[in-house]
Amino acid sequence: MILRHTLPPALRRVASSPPSPLTYRPSPRSRPWFCCCRARMLSTLPRLPIFEAVAGHDPAATAVVHSVSGRSFTYGQLLADVSRARDRRREARGGADLDGERIAFLVENSYDYVVTLLAAIAARSIAVPLSPAFPAPELQYILNHSEASLLVSSFKFTPRADEVLATELTSKPAHLELAKHVGGQEKEAVALEDTDPAGAGLMLYTSGTTNRPKGVLLPQSALTAQCRSLVEAWKYTPSDHLLHVLPLHHIHGTVNALLAPLFAGSSIEFMFPFNADTVWKRLATPFLATNGTTTNGITATQPKVTFFTVVPTVYSRLLASHKSLPAELQEAARQAISPANLRVNISGSAALPTPIKAAWQTLSRGNVLLERYGMTEVGMALSCGLDFADRVDASVGWPLPSVQARLMDVDTGEVIPPGQDVDGAGRERSGEIQLRGPTIFKEYWRNPDATAKEFIADLDGHGPWFKTGDIAIRRPVPSAGHSAVQPWARGPLYFIQGRRTADIIKTGGEKVSALEVERELLSLPEVAEAAVVAVPSGNWGQKVGAVIILDTDVVHKWSPLDMRRALKSRLANYKIPQVMKVVDHIPRNAMGKINKKLLVRAIFSDAFSGDER
Ligand code: AMP
Repeated sequence: MILRHTLPPALRRVASSPPSPLTYRPSPRSRPWFCCCRARMLSTLPRLPIFEAVAGHDPAATAVVHSVSGRSFTYGQLLADVSRARDRRREARGGADLDGERIAFLVENSYDYVVTLLAAIAARSIAVPLSPAFPAPELQYILNHSEASLLVSSFKFTPRADEVLATELTSKPAHLELAKHVGGQEKEAVALEDTDPAGAGLMLYTSGTTNRPKGVLLPQSALTAQCRSLVEAWKYTPSDHLLHVLPLHHIHGTVNALLAPLFAGSSIEFMFPFNADTVWKRLATPFLATNGTTTNGITATQPKVTFFTVVPTVYSRLLASHKSLPAELQEAARQAISPANLRVNISGSAALPTPIKAAWQTLSRGNVLLERYGMTEVGMALSCGLDFADRVDASVGWPLPSVQARLMDVDTGEVIPPGQDVDGAGRERSGEIQLRGPTIFKEYWRNPDATAKEFIADLDGHGPWFKTGDIAIRRPVPSAGHSAVQPWARGPLYFIQGRRTADIIKTGGEKVSALEVERELLSLPEVAEAAVVAVPSGNWGQKVGAVIILDTDVVHKWSPLDMRRALKSRLANYKIPQVMKVVDHIPRNAMGKINKKLLVRAIFSDAFSGDER
């Protein structure tokens, strides 16, 4: 059956004319999506949900835009290019079946990245995106560890690929160099074939703090479940235009900002690496009288951005740079991010400080950031809702559709029953977030011990739970959870306390959440950035330590005593940092995260009390 409604007008004639001997005749198990080249052999793609979704979108609709060059690619081109690219991957391996093989790639954020990722999945292989920012030894480690049989590099990153291929590689991958601008050349008929998805998937490497990075294997079934869950919760649509400024070797950039919008038929505009002024200019352009410049008789008008999902540091940098924009741009930028225009603005991957949320709301004249929680192993797990009343301050909301979540008291091993989130003494009970459902990863690659360690069995017959290592409390918020159209957003909300190993500070028998203390510190006018860490102490077990960057518009000197005075009315005494250091810079990774284990060693080694055990 030809899906006529998806055909461009010129092709509808071909589809409706009687079949000639050269016209493709579909078998019941193999349905072409569109057909324009009668004599050409029909390309195929496996009938996986991602390709069914892409084939169902308007082929003339924009899928991907390169912000700087303005080049854009349609869903029609995407499907044909993925099929061709998949064939080329097979040729590069001498026509071998790539089922379950690892295809690593070094490709910049672009249409070529999207084609390369999907081509690996189409080959029923495991896509292994590499960050061009990684040093050669790290790339070497990933290639060896994943036992990649093919390394694909874009024209731009072929020298990086050559550099890593010159190192000692146990896996000896074949190398496929992509030419410049290969995609989007011509359309071609593509049929979806019923095949077993077999080994198709994505492998992302976690940033290891003490150990080497682990390969997190997300089968295509988990990716599909993650995307469906997000599309249901955040309602991506074909009229959404998403501005993509995140790295693409991380779950946030890959699933939330790429695969989920492709599932929904939205447009994705790449603008990487992130630069606050450039992003403001892009956001503002549709609201300037000058939008729509004419070159060679063609007028390019930039569409407004409706969907933006980034990390808290991106919002923080945007807020800081807005003040220095020219006045006209400032106003257009405010319009661009207002609730009427920027439909969804999401923050995640690290805790969202309240002052950033509040400042964004003021600047945008009412847009409320939606916070969510997730990790590489599970995709997105918890999220606030689309109603503004459901974007509750400091909370990451409720379990997303298809995700099951529970809290386990890590001291007693008891699962905290829903509704019993407060103990006999009136204290909120914190526990580790544990998750299960179709969105969860399959395993750490070739590391059964690590995989076994992170799962905990359940006798209820519905499978084991993944232990996230993150601690949370649940709290009912009477004003939230009433949306008629988001039934998953109901009941008590989750509030993240931090990572069990780095953010839960045990001091003098009390437990302190580093995130809670950071939140209060950041609410003080004197503090621009803050990281709260556990400083080892023999007397206290651990001391609460604060690393601070001052807001020099407000203050130039600030002592530990000033800090204690400022926090006195905000925090219980035992939560107030006992040691504090003011610094000029706090190192963060590409996702804005702080490695607290390294930070405490770098900053507080002289504050260790000497009585540590
Ligand atoms: P990654 O696997 O690199 O995405 O890191 C996942 C970790 O980021 C989680 O285990 C949490 O510790 C942290 N994280 C993600 N989202 C949030 C959030 N909204 N608030 C606090 N921490 C978060």
